[in-house]
Amino acid sequence: MEKIYGNVNSIETMGLVDGPGIRFVVFMQGCELRCLYCHNPETWNKNLKVIKITPNNLIKKILRFKNYFGKDGGVTFSGGEPLLQPKFLIECLKLCKQNDINTVIDTAGVGLGNYDEILKYTDLVILDIKATKEEDYKKITGKNMEQFNKFLSAVQKNNTKLWLRQVIVPNINDTEENVINLKNYAKNIKNVENIELLPYKTLGVHKYKELNIPYRLDGIKDMSAQKIKELSKLLK
Ligand code: SF4
Repeated sequence: MEKIYGNVNSIETMGLVDGPGIRFVVFMQGCELRCLYCHNPETWNKNLKVIKITPNNLIKKILRFKNYFGKDGGVTFSGGEPLLQPKFLIECLKLCKQNDINTVIDTAGVGLGNYDEILKYTDLVILDIKATKEEDYKKITGKNMEQFNKFLSAVQKNNTKLWLRQVIVPNINDTEENVINLKNYAKNIKNVENIELLPYKTLGVHKYKELNIPYRLDGIKDMSAQKIKELSKLLK
């Protein structure tokens, strides 16, 4: 049988922001999008070997933390983009479910297919919605919405629970109109448990210098927490 390896950028053993409860978070390497505000450009290159690991070895590590997960916690596959390594992801999700561990995928929804199989073993999808309109999506990510739409359809077909997230950036999408569009867009999606607006932060800018990649949002400041609070009220 073909040996499956995952290409993992890093691991966080006790994450608190990537899903419910205390979570073991696997940040997978590789992303096809090029979001203007990405603070993890080091995860973009899918061929960069960071941590090469088999699903069996990963689950062994995860099981060491199982006692901390409690009734809500579990494992989150994040990135980069976890959907770009479907074989590895499916094996890991299966092993988690065999060991009675809650599974979350934190994704922008742009992968390589096999979504029905992935979602069979996924308890919750945290979906990063970059924009609801094609032209805005293209401006922010550099790609069209085709793949994202495919993944969202699969999530709907499989009745998977969903949390929606959107990063709000000053002068780009920090308008009431954008948030109302997001709210209306979400109304047509089943199983949405919550929608969260995340403030743009400049914390990853230094990485662009180190990687010699031009930063396209130079001069844009961190999104104000107060404004996020006000815009979030529109989602109620
Ligand atoms: S989807 Fe995530 S990892 Fe990929 S470019 Fe966008 S923000 Fe970065």
